Amino acid sequence: MSRKLRMKCRFCGHWNRFQAQKIFLKHKVKGIQTYVPVYHVSEIHKCEKCGKVMQKPKELIRIEKVNLYEIH
Ligand SMILES: [Zn+2]
Repeated sequence: MSRKLRMKCRFCGHWNRFQAQKIFLKHKVKGIQTYVPVYHVSEIHKCEKCGKVMQKPKELIRIEKVNLYEIH
């Protein structure tokens, strides 16, 4: 599933938009099986403003409510 995300740069605070794939990871909490949504990018993603690397292809992105939103 391809999703558009808004993500806040952790270096300069600029909001970037980019495309990522949404996947679900199996996660067990206290014996209960749940699925955690995570995102990953297919190519390196840099901040539009400061140029620092925000995401690398093999890093999984978890939703952190304060700095990442899905755009519907
Ligand atoms: Zn930045």
